[in-house]
Amino acid sequence: MRPILALLGTFVLASAFAAPGTIEPAKAAALAPGQTLSLVATAYGPSLKDNYPYGPVDYYGKPLKPGDVAVDPRVIPLGTRLYVSGYHSSMLPSGGFYAVAVDTGGAIKGNRIDIFINAPDAQVLNFGIQDVTVTVVGASGQVASTPKTGGGSQQSSSSSPAAGSASSGTSAGGGRLKGWTIVVDPGHGRDPRYGNYTGARGVNGVSEDQNVLDIGDRLVADLRAQGAAVYITRGAYDPAPPPVQGLIRRVALAEKVHADLFLSIHQNDGSAQSHGVQTYYYWPRSASLAKDVQQAMVAATGLTNAGIYRRGFYVVYRTTMPAILVEGGFLSNRPEANLISTQAFHVKEASALDFAVLAYAKANPKH
Ligand SMILES: [Zn+2]
Repeated sequence: MRPILALLGTFVLASAFAAPGTIEPAKAAALAPGQTLSLVATAYGPSLKDNYPYGPVDYYGKPLKPGDVAVDPRVIPLGTRLYVSGYHSSMLPSGGFYAVAVDTGGAIKGNRIDIFINAPDAQVLNFGIQDVTVTVVGASGQVASTPKTGGGSQQSSSSSPAAGSASSGTSAGGGRLKGWTIVVDPGHGRDPRYGNYTGARGVNGVSEDQNVLDIGDRLVADLRAQGAAVYITRGAYDPAPPPVQGLIRRVALAEKVHADLFLSIHQNDGSAQSHGVQTYYYWPRSASLAKDVQQAMVAATGLTNAGIYRRGFYVVYRTTMPAILVEGGFLSNRPEANLISTQAFHVKEASALDFAVLAYAKANPKH
C-alpha cells in the first residue's frame, strides 16, 4: 500500500510508517463486467519515494508489475480486472491496456486511479494527471493471494504461539551469540534539521521514537552480553534526512556489516481500542524469526497477540538477511500507551527480543 503520491509533491511521513496494517480499506460491492467509469489517472513508479515506507510491492506484498493499478477500494474492489483507455502516454500500450486493481494509496480516493509504470521517477512524472476511461472486465476475487495486511487489533494470521517464559533464556549469558552480527533498528528519530520525525505520537504525550530508542539500547546491551556483535542504526536522531535517506542508510548499515539478523523496533498507531503486538516480515527466510519474536513478545510483555503479517516495509524488503519489524503495542490506546512507555516494559521487551534471537540462533546454529 502506498500512502503517498509523489506527483502531488507531498509526503505522508510518520503517521504512514507508524500505522502499518491498521488501514483496512472498506470494500465496495463487485462491479458488473462491462461497466465503465470515468476516472482521473496519475502514474507511479518503483522508486522508494513513490512507495514509502514500503518497497515496490502491491497491497498484497507482491512485486509491482506493468498492468498493476492502485484504486480506492471503496470504489473499485481490490482484485477487479479492468481495461484502461483514453490516456496519452508513450510509456503505456497505445489504445489501452488490461489492468488489475492490486494496490491502494493514501491519495487515491474516489474517482482516482494510479497506474504503475516501471520507469524512473523523471519519466513517470511525465504522465501528469489525465482523464481515462476504465471498463470493468471481471469481478473481484481473481488475485491469487491472501492479503498480507493486518487489522489493528485483528486476531487473524498465521501464528498464535503458546506462552512460554521469555525471561528464562536471558539470564545465563556467556557467549551464546558469539559469531552473530545483529543490527538493531529503533524506528524513526526526530531531527531538528529536517522536521520532527517522531513516529507515532502517544495519546499520553510520549513519542514512538523515544520509546523504541530506549528499548533498542537495552536490547543492544542484552545481545552484547551474550557475545554478539551488535550495531544500532540511530541514536537520539536519525543521522540521515528522513524519511527516504534514513531508511536507505539503515539497510545499508546492515548490508555493510553483513548482519545475520535485522530487528526493527516500532510502536503502533491506530484507534483508541487498537491493542497488541504485531510482527512484520517479507521474505520467507524471515518467517521463523518473525514467529520467534511474536511468541516471545506475547509471552514476556502480556500484550495481545495481534498477529504476524507479510508486508513489504522497506527495511524488511530491502535487507538480504532475516529481518523483522515488530510493533510492540499501540500508542493510540491510552492504557497501552502508558504501559509501553514505562522503563519496566522496555526492559521486558528488550529481553523478549533477546530471547527470540537466542531461540533463533539455537535453531539455526552457525557451526
Ligand atoms: Zn514506527
